[in-house]
Amino acid sequence: MTRRVVIVGNGMAGARLAEELRRRERDPERLEVVVFGAEPRAAYNRILLSNVLAGSITARDTRLRPDDWWGRNHVDVRTGVRVTGIDTAARIVRSDDGAVLGYDELVLATGSVPFVPRIEGMAPHDGRVVAFRTVEDCERIAAAARQGCRAVVLGGGLLGLEAARGLLQRGVDVTVVHPRSVPMERQLDVGGGRVLVRILDGLGVRMLLERRAVALQDRPAGRTLLLDDGTALPADLVVLTAGIRPATDLALAAGISVEQGVVVDDALRASAPHVWAIGECAQHRGEVYGLVQPGWEQAAVVADRITAADSDAEYHGTPALTRLKAHDIDLASMGDVTADLHDEDCDVLVLADPSRGRYAKLVVADDRIVGAVLLGCPDTVGTVTQLFDSELPVPQDRMALLTGRGATAVASVSPAGMPGGAVICRCNSVTKSSLTTAWRAGARSVAALATATRATTGCGGCGSAVEGICEWLRTTDPQHEHEETNIQPARKEGAA
Ligand SMILES: Cc1cc2nc3c(=O)[nH]c(=O)nc-3n(C[C@H](O)[C@H](O)[C@H](O)COP(=O)(O)OP(=O)(O)OC[C@H]3O[C@@H](n4cnc5c(N)ncnc54)[C@H](O)[C@@H]3O)c2cc1C
Repeated sequence: MTRRVVIVGNGMAGARLAEELRRRERDPERLEVVVFGAEPRAAYNRILLSNVLAGSITARDTRLRPDDWWGRNHVDVRTGVRVTGIDTAARIVRSDDGAVLGYDELVLATGSVPFVPRIEGMAPHDGRVVAFRTVEDCERIAAAARQGCRAVVLGGGLLGLEAARGLLQRGVDVTVVHPRSVPMERQLDVGGGRVLVRILDGLGVRMLLERRAVALQDRPAGRTLLLDDGTALPADLVVLTAGIRPATDLALAAGISVEQGVVVDDALRASAPHVWAIGECAQHRGEVYGLVQPGWEQAAVVADRITAADSDAEYHGTPALTRLKAHDIDLASMGDVTADLHDEDCDVLVLADPSRGRYAKLVVADDRIVGAVLLGCPDTVGTVTQLFDSELPVPQDRMALLTGRGATAVASVSPAGMPGGAVICRCNSVTKSSLTTAWRAGARSVAALATATRATTGCGGCGSAVEGICEWLRTTDPQHEHEETNIQPARKEGAA
């Protein structure tokens, strides 16, 4: 008998779930997978939109799979179709193309919607006020962002700063307005935040902190954004990056339990039978994530459960790891970075060279890295990230980690010691074993590996790690090592 899984949302979590399901159950006669996606295109890597805005890649480069992959792998993707209602008792969904479809299992992966702050005189989406979430938003921003245009970005979080940097690259005059005293306050402490402001200033991005926009006015001199301290900013374009809200309307209307997001348990089950939720729309143990990695890990758990590949699979949370993808700014933040030098529960190491735009902070507890800020320290990011991800003990000389000398001291994060499943390129989800496979298929340089796997083509932060793996493959007998340590196949390879 064929079971049908319906996934609502063809974004990063929904598309990943379709792949994970097909990887575990290839037979469409046994498992039918239907994905509804309100956006008018096939699934794409949303995190690469900052690069699209900056003009370094095109929207087409962000596709998660070639156009025909989904059909070839028996995934029924209904692009441009929005699910409008769920009947959890009858187990059916209704969509805006008039279809009514039954399901055995329903997975909500509806993501988030941009938060639109209340500002007098501002009508969102009037062409000159644009949120930054989709390919279409990117196109709208690019269309408005002509040379010499004056743009105001509302919100100095990760998204706002990436948008600001991208606009600057298009020759736009950019001001970022942020209500807090430091930008990216969820990822940065005060020291790191201040260094980041100096870097942005040096690049030409004006940061106005501790201020809010209150009104948008059409004046004879042009559009003007008024701030709460009386400042009047020319605003030919307003980019909204003031936060996101989980897209929960559909779940709410169906009587499914919603707090901030759709409430799920450790199995990712929502309150109604046969309904699950993953990605940014889900609330797990009180946490709603705004990053892609949790959604991908959740997709694997739900796929395990639905296909009974592992009926006891559980999700227990994902430590936060964020990388700013902006030209000329190298910033990685992970874990909890709020501890200060005198905290008694952990050791805090800080190295700062503000005028050179460098700031590094490590928070260590029980000999493990529990938090880090690495700004302007590209040589340290790979090693620190691997130690943080794998929860391996830090080396004796912890300061060496901050100066970039630590990599050689940590055998476990050298390519030979890494498990095959270690994610090297987070933007494109490329593991060590994907790189090894590509190498064996003939990609014998960093550029060739980039073409084959897309590693390094996102934020570029994994460049030195890919180079290291390339060098290691060149100088060792990888076949032998691969057999010994290559624990699992690359997740991304799925059901190709
Ligand atoms: C510019 C940008 C840069 C980012 N950079 C990073 C980064 O560096 N690192 C990181 O970890 N994260 C980053 N993020 C966040 C990351 O993209 C999200 O965490 C991720 O996309 C969440 O996946 P999701 O599937 O839950 O939601 P989404 O990818 O938003 O997908 C949800 C999909 O569901 C669709 N949908 C909603 N309701 C319905 C319905 N009723 N019927 C049908 N379809 C529906 C939506 O149209 C959407 O396509 C970035 C986001 C943006 C916008």
